[in-house]
Amino acid sequence: MTDMNRRNMLQAAGAMTVGAVAGCATPGVAGNAARTAFNVPATTIPVSGTDEMFPVRRIYCIGRNYAAHAREMGSDPTREPPFFFQKPTDAIQNVAPGTLADHPYPSLTRNYHYEVELVAALSRGGSNIPIERALEHVYGYAVGLDMTRRDLQRAMGDEKKPWEIGKSFDRSAPIGPLHRVANVGHFTNGAIWLKVNGQVRQNATLNHMIWSVAEQVARLSLANELFPGDIIFSGTPENVGPVVRGDRIDCHIDGLPDLSIRIV
Ligand code: MN
Repeated sequence: MTDMNRRNMLQAAGAMTVGAVAGCATPGVAGNAARTAFNVPATTIPVSGTDEMFPVRRIYCIGRNYAAHAREMGSDPTREPPFFFQKPTDAIQNVAPGTLADHPYPSLTRNYHYEVELVAALSRGGSNIPIERALEHVYGYAVGLDMTRRDLQRAMGDEKKPWEIGKSFDRSAPIGPLHRVANVGHFTNGAIWLKVNGQVRQNATLNHMIWSVAEQVARLSLANELFPGDIIFSGTPENVGPVVRGDRIDCHIDGLPDLSIRIV
């Protein structure tokens, strides 16, 4: 390490300490130098072809982003602006390609649904990001599952209560490794499908999205400042449905390795 680099690092460390004391730009986030009462594990996703992990900051999910799925959920896809919800970061369940990961059937539900989705991961943040520059913020893509306690989601919706218990629970976001845009490009077309026990249940193409990934990044950045580490579940096609213990789910998006789990 050169003296110059060492000096820059020391200055950066000093700045972080000051940030922890004086408060930083992001509410609720202390500098890295802050001493904490105990450690909370960070959530990361493996980056394919590297020994690096992608650090997850927030998980955003778009609702009803394929017209036929919007209709099956009882809404009119032509008149609704996009809406987003979040899952807790530690809802991630990493699944290595070529493995069949055990995925526990969650508590409280009797109607547990799969939703296969393309996941976009950001390495650059910002506010009011223009659509034509939005894809510059995307670091990579993965295959993900937005697992859903459908009965609880519907019941809460009927009562005009938050969806949270239906969407934002432990291990509700199984995901494959991230593939960098530098290697795989962007995903605007291609097949997306899901099988249960070898039978095709969902089968569409990514260009059936109502709001593209670029549009989702732009829209989200109007509501919240986006940061590196944010990931976006980009919505599921039609024909969502239930699984029970013992079922095997295989998910596919052209250009990415399949994601497979078994419900246990
Ligand atoms: Mn979804």
